[in-house]
Amino acid sequence: MNLNVSEPASEVANLKGPAGPYHRVLLKLSGEALAGPKGYGIDQQTLMAISSQIKRLRLELDVQIGVVIGGGNIWRGTEAAQFGMDRAQADYAGMLGTIINALAFQDALERSQVTTRVQTAINVYSVAEPYIRRRAIRHLEKGRVVVFAGGTGNPYFSTDTAAALRAVEISAQIILMGKNGTDGVYDADPRVTPSATKIDRLGYSQALNQGLGVMDATALSMCMENNLPIVVFDINVEGNIIKAVRGEKIGSLIH
Ligand code: UDP
Repeated sequence: MNLNVSEPASEVANLKGPAGPYHRVLLKLSGEALAGPKGYGIDQQTLMAISSQIKRLRLELDVQIGVVIGGGNIWRGTEAAQFGMDRAQADYAGMLGTIINALAFQDALERSQVTTRVQTAINVYSVAEPYIRRRAIRHLEKGRVVVFAGGTGNPYFSTDTAAALRAVEISAQIILMGKNGTDGVYDADPRVTPSATKIDRLGYSQALNQGLGVMDATALSMCMENNLPIVVFDINVEGNIIKAVRGEKIGSLIH
C-alpha cells in the first residue's frame, strides 16, 4: 500500500463550485439513514438511492464529498452500557459497526460508478486505509468520495462529533446532515408533539441551549467554534442532497 503522506495538502482557499456555493462538503449519514424503512440493519435499496444522489452530485456539480458514517443501525454504545457493559468496550464495538456500514456504502457507491476510498479512525488494514488527513484531501481533489469510518477513534464520542472534526480538518464548507424521514429541526419532537413547528434557520446557541436534537453538544460546539454551517434535511427525498449543495432553501440551516 502506498502511504505517501509527504504530498503537500493543497490549498483549499480557492474553492468555488461551478454550480453552487459549496465546492467541498461533508455529508453525515446516520446509521438510521442506511437502515431505511426497516429501521435497523442496512437496506440495500436505501443505500443505492443515496449512492445515486451522490453520483449526480459528482457528475453534475463536481463537488468534493467526504462522508462520515454512523453506526446506530447496528450498535449504540450507550444502550449496551445501560445493560452493564463497560462503556468504552461498548463504544469500540460501536465504532466497528460504523466500519461495517462504510464497507456496505462503499460497495453501493462503486456499483453506481462512483470512485471511493474508505478511511478508518480505528485501523483495519485489510479492508480500508487508515485515516490520514492529507491523503484524504488528495483523494477528494482527485474526485474520489472519501468515506470516514470508525468515528473519532475514541470512546465517549459520537459520529456527529467525528463529522464536525473531519469537516474542519478537510476544510469542508458545510455539514450536510442527512436524516431518515425528518426534514429539518423542530421546536419539539414532531413524533411526540404533532403541533411542533419547523425552524428554517437558527443559531448555534439556540440549537445548543434549547437542546433541539440537531447533533450532540460536543459536535455542535465544535461547529460553532469553527463557524461551520450545518444543513439538516431528509435524505430520503431524491434530489435533496443536490439542493442542499446548491444552497437552495431546504431543511433547516444552523449557522
Ligand atoms: N462511537 C464512539 N466514538 C466515536 C463515534 C462513535 O465510541 O467517535 C460509538 C458509540 O458507541 C456510538 C456508536 O459508535 O453509539 C455508533 O455511532 P453513532 O451513535 O454516532 O451513530 P449514528 O447515531 O450516527 O448512527
